[in-house]
Amino acid sequence: MGKLFVVGIGPGGLEHMTIKALDTIKESDIIVGYTKYLEFLQPLIKDKETVSTGMMGEEERCRKALELAKDKVVAVISTGDAGIYGMAGLILELREDEEVEIIPGVTASSSAGSVLGAPLMHDNCNISLSDLMTPYEDIKKRVRLAAEGDFIISLYNPKSKKRITYLREAIGTIKEFRPASTPVAVVKNALREGQSINIYTIENFDDSEVDMFSIVIVGNSKSFMKDGFFITPRGYKIDK
Ligand code: SAH
Repeated sequence: MGKLFVVGIGPGGLEHMTIKALDTIKESDIIVGYTKYLEFLQPLIKDKETVSTGMMGEEERCRKALELAKDKVVAVISTGDAGIYGMAGLILELREDEEVEIIPGVTASSSAGSVLGAPLMHDNCNISLSDLMTPYEDIKKRVRLAAEGDFIISLYNPKSKKRITYLREAIGTIKEFRPASTPVAVVKNALREGQSINIYTIENFDDSEVDMFSIVIVGNSKSFMKDGFFITPRGYKIDK
């Protein structure tokens, strides 16, 4: 009997993977994932069979993994958390009678949050600005309602070569509901090689550093910067 694990490997380096994710990869017969992620994991994979899916569409990749899992132990890897804009959902939608287990990982907002300080200390949400599978009208509505609800907002897939205006529009919408001094952070390659951080206020936000390896975190109306740390207060009454 085979089994399919859908494994979130965290932001990149092995030290940010959970022990369960690490053990699952070690114990799997076949590892399925993008070439780039397989390279990250090379020390664990060694001479295991791998299916590199650079040229495959997502559905094809999931079907292939499910087929292999009929009689082998297979790990499909996603960066961050496999259940957050990862492969877990599609695998479960396509699954027939294969055994499937989802192994969580550290998602990009947590990774980026940790290098910024404590921006996600209060109610927060993730919004992906990718319109590949979500109509832009829905994205705009979610941005507006999250802004109105004063959520701290982590924007995944903020900008691509073809899609350059959505981020500016989203920030413009959120700005209507936040003080001009609200911190906005751009973290590129959080907790992996090439990490960079840029901090702005919502008033002077500049999207020139943003690409698909970046996440943008917009504070709520109470977020502030202190000694370089991005903090959203939890609400403790403290003597300053
Ligand atoms: N499953 C992943 C998200 C995949 S969607 C997770 O849970 O993190 C891809 C988007 O995630 C990227 O466009 C970027 O916005 C964000 N992302 C993933 N890893 C990142 C990292 N290390 N640093 C900054 N952003 C990252």
